[in-house]
Formats: sequence, C-alpha cells, structure tokens
Amino acid sequence: MNPINPQSPPSRPTSYTRTPSRMGVRPFRRGNSAFAAKKDGPAGGLRPSHFSTALKNGYDTKTKEAEIVPPLAPDSIRIIPLGGVEEIGKNCTMIEVGDDIIVVDIGFQFKDENTPGIDYILPNTKYVEERKEKVRAVIVTHGHLDHIGAIPFVMPRIGNPPLYTRLLTSVMIKKRQEEFLHMPPLDLRVVEKDETITVGKLKVRFFSVTHTIPDAMGLIIETPWGSIVHTGDLKLDHIDGVPTEAEEVEYERAFKNENVLMLMADSTNVENPGFSIPEKQVHKNIEEIIKNVQGRLIVATFSSLLERILKIIEFAEKYGKKVCVEGRSMKQNIEICKQLGLLKPKKDTMISSEEIDQYPPERMIILATGAQGDEYAAMMRMANKTHKYVKITKRDTILLSSSVVPGNERAVQKLKDNLSRQGAHIIHYKIADVHSSGHANRDETAWIHKKIHPKFFMPLHGYHYMLRVHGEIAREANNLPEESVIIPDNGAILEIQNKGQKIVRLKEKAASNIVMVDGFSVGDIQDVVIRDRQALAQDGIFIVFAIINSQTGRLRKSPDIISRGFVYLRESQTLLHETRILIKNTVEKSTHGMNPINVDYIKENITDEVSRFLLQKTAKRPMVIPVILTV
Ligand SMILES: [Zn+2]
Repeated sequence: MNPINPQSPPSRPTSYTRTPSRMGVRPFRRGNSAFAAKKDGPAGGLRPSHFSTALKNGYDTKTKEAEIVPPLAPDSIRIIPLGGVEEIGKNCTMIEVGDDIIVVDIGFQFKDENTPGIDYILPNTKYVEERKEKVRAVIVTHGHLDHIGAIPFVMPRIGNPPLYTRLLTSVMIKKRQEEFLHMPPLDLRVVEKDETITVGKLKVRFFSVTHTIPDAMGLIIETPWGSIVHTGDLKLDHIDGVPTEAEEVEYERAFKNENVLMLMADSTNVENPGFSIPEKQVHKNIEEIIKNVQGRLIVATFSSLLERILKIIEFAEKYGKKVCVEGRSMKQNIEICKQLGLLKPKKDTMISSEEIDQYPPERMIILATGAQGDEYAAMMRMANKTHKYVKITKRDTILLSSSVVPGNERAVQKLKDNLSRQGAHIIHYKIADVHSSGHANRDETAWIHKKIHPKFFMPLHGYHYMLRVHGEIAREANNLPEESVIIPDNGAILEIQNKGQKIVRLKEKAASNIVMVDGFSVGDIQDVVIRDRQALAQDGIFIVFAIINSQTGRLRKSPDIISRGFVYLRESQTLLHETRILIKNTVEKSTHGMNPINVDYIKENITDEVSRFLLQKTAKRPMVIPVILTV
C-alpha cells in the first residue's frame, strides 16, 4: 500500500455529490448552501465589501434590476457610475436621458490579493445590458486600460453600439480587439475635439484635456435642462501654477457660455496639494539625464505614458543615441504611434535587442516595461539576470520614471535591491522630478471646477476617501450647497429630477457585485471559486480515498491520503496514522445498521470529523475532500 502517493490519481472515484468547492470552506456544518458559507465566513476571507455586495445581490443573477428600479421620469436624467468610484480602475459611467443611454469608458481592473487567479475585473454592466435597446453610443475618453480594457468583454453584452473616440484611442482599441477575434467587430467612429455628434436625441461635444497620453478628451452631453460634463482623466499644463494659454483657450471655448448642469471628474490625485509637476518639467529633467549620462541608460516607465516615451525617443535622436524597446506593451504602443505619424524616428534610431552590444554603452538607451516590479516584465528580468540580451553592469544608469502604485511597494523595493546589487546607479522619482502623474492635484482641480462651474457634481475615478476630498473641493470652488454634491458607490443611481431642479440618489441600486474574467469564463457568480482559492492558498487540501465494502459497511483497506499545501506528510506519520483510525471508526459508525449504505452521509461525516481532528492537531483548516468507492 502506498499511503502517501501524491502523483497517482484516485482510483475510480464514484461520486462527487457534494462539490469540493462548498465543503472546504465550512468543514463543521451540514448542508452545503453557499449562502450559509458566506455567513460563517470562509477560511480565507474576501474583502467585506465583496461579501456585502454578493449577499445583497445573492447568487440570483436572474433578478432584473428593471423590476426593482423605477422607470425614468421624462423630466429626469439618470446617471450611474458602474465602476471606478470605489477603486482606481474599471471606469465606466452610464448616462440615461429619455430613450437614450450613453456609456462613457469601459475599463477593467487588474486582480489583487483578494481575487487570486483572476485575469481581470470588469465593471458590472447589468443595468445597461437589460436596457441595451436604448444604448446609442459608447464614448471613450482616452486609451488607458482602466478606460478601454473591458471593451471586448462588455460590447457584445450591450448590443455592440457605435463607439466614438479620438484617433489614437480608436487605434489602441482596434489593436486590442485583434486579440479577441471571436468577438463581433466594433463599430468604431473617430471624432475630433471640436466636433459635435448626435446620438439618439442627444448632442455630444468634446474638449481636449491634458493627460499622459495623446488624444485624451472630456465630453459635454447637451440635455434640455443643461449639459452633463465628463472630464475623463486630466491634469493641467502649467508654469508654476499658472495654466498655459492653450489650457485657458480650450476651457474658454468649451465652457464660457455653457450652462453646466452636472460635472463628473477625476479624483485620483486631489489629496496632493497645489499643482502637479508639469510633464514638461519631467521632460526637461529626463533630457538632462540623457545628455549627461555616462554609460548606458535604461529607462523604465509605464507603457501607457506615451507622451513621455515619444519625448525620450526624440531626445535620444537629438543626442545621437540609439533606442531599444524591451516589453511587449511598450513595443505595441510605439508601433501605433509610428502608424499614426505621432512618432517619426530616423531609420536607424530604433534598434533590436540583438544589436545592443554593437553600440558603445554611452550611445545606448533601453526603454523597458516593469517599473512597478512586475514579475514578468523586462525590467524584472534584467534585475533577476534572466534577460536574454541585457546584462546589468555597474556602468549602467537606471531611470525609474514612474511613481510606485500603492500595493507595489515591495515589488519595487525588490527590483531596486536586485538592480543595485549588480552595481547599477538608480534614479527614481523621490530623488529627482523624473515622473509626474496624469491626474490633477488639489489646486488644479479647483481651477477646473471654476472654469466648468457646474450646478451639481459627482466625483469619479478614485477610492471613497479621494471622492470625499474631491467633493469638498467642488463645493468650495463654486459655493455649492451640500445637497448638490453626491459621493457615489459603484451602482449608485443618481437622478437629476424636475427638469434639472434637484439631484437625488435613489435608494435602489444597480447591480455592482464584481464581474470577473477567469480564463475563458466571464461572470459574477464566481465568489465560491475565489473563496476556495483563498482557502487552498492558506491551508491546502486534504483528500481521503476510501474503499468500502457495501455488504459489511467496513473499509476494504486502510484509506489513502493525498495532501497539498497542508503539512509535510512524510514528517507527519503519527498524524496520518491517527487520521486513518478516525476515518475507519467514522465509516463504521456511519454505516452501522445501514442498508444500502448512503455514500453522501458517510462523506459528510468524514469531512466533519477529519476537519475537526486536523484543526485540533494542527490549528489549520485544509479543504477536506473524501472520495469513496463502494465494492
Ligand atoms: Zn488615464
């Protein structure tokens, strides 16, 4: 007999009447309702908000919000932030006027420690899906993934309406769509900043904003009671806190005579005082570094910071240097800029990885992804000495031209440690102004509010506290009364009622539980799966294989046990021995006087008894899965 046989599969398991998923999370109770599991709390533990939303929405995805949410009155406007107001990510906002719905941005969010194994998190667009015949347009403010990432997944669900955006964004969306060839083709329509489009009965105009990527824009939706303004992500181009002429002109053009009923705007950096570092300043500092650097320069930054990347290539040419790009997303974005004529490098400026060693180090600039310490990005491979072409030496200067995104502190620390261990000289945003974010600080935000001068305001794009701070800035800037500013959660339903007279937040809510992309599946009912992954990650799995003689109700032989991530079994022989005795006794007790034997009942008892025993002996709660074969 081979009691510890991690490799071989169980011998013909007969039945899995209880799914493993549901057993593991609550070993001490009968009944397998996933709901009960939620109340008890899992071994792992999702964020409380995940639970509350999942509980509120239940697992009953059939419930139609349409049956709960009252119909929209003809003199009202409805606005729902479907994502992006409890996080930085998955930005998506719905605006409904009469028979027309416009969706602004459809972004995604990357997984975090609460969603192990998940690819992306999408905004919950159920409200719009149930009214897809009303959707006239999707309008996309700019090409960052937290604004375009979920387009391939969401567009087919909302009827694949026309998608309006500016040129660069349209190409980035198209490029991304190539990875989803099974999806229906998009109806992409390119607009420019001074264009007006008509969608349904609504007219929409645009204004250009400063961000970190070209072609970023805000939009103005005209309604009979005033206009609705959505800024997208923005900051201001300025000199020492004085916005440039170009900014003045653009805001005057768009808002001087505009009756703005409602404003929605970016909250990401409103906690920072004053004005943000102008991107021009960052460019100037990077130019100095490129000009004066001794040896090779490796610049790591976000592949989405296209304006900066284009500048770096421009400076490289100016100082007679070659540029090699490392990292797929950055290569792809640079390729798009070339296609659109935003970048026109000389023929021999851009070189391939294989050619790096053909040039003296002082003529070489390497542009790389992975400034956040991302595990598989180019920069980390260089740091770990696993990069095929780039070996770090002590003559290298590494410029980390990015801030550290909250949550990435340790990864970035590790990156810096490993690079400096190899002797590289590192320049980062804390020792020089080599990075600026694309989002407005407090005083910039106030300036924008004064220019747009709305009657009502809702902050977007940020965690709850950021939205609160932004709400205060809005009130101060234009003397707005408290009731004119609404701080939303995802799925909050706002209505501007009585022909623009007042703004209210309905007590009803649109669906807001998280929608996950996990491999090929997309859905909002995978909480059970996620909880199992967390439980497995914490305490592992413990599988019991038992063969029972259906005549006698006794074990045919001592049960086999397989375990992963729990305890090291080879050093736990006593525990295994005692567990086998427990299983034997449990089986005999369960089958006593039973004919025919009830396999499910025996399994439940084994799960309960073994879980309890292992907890007592090890203070751990592995997922216990019995597999029973009757002969
Ligand atoms: Zn952005």
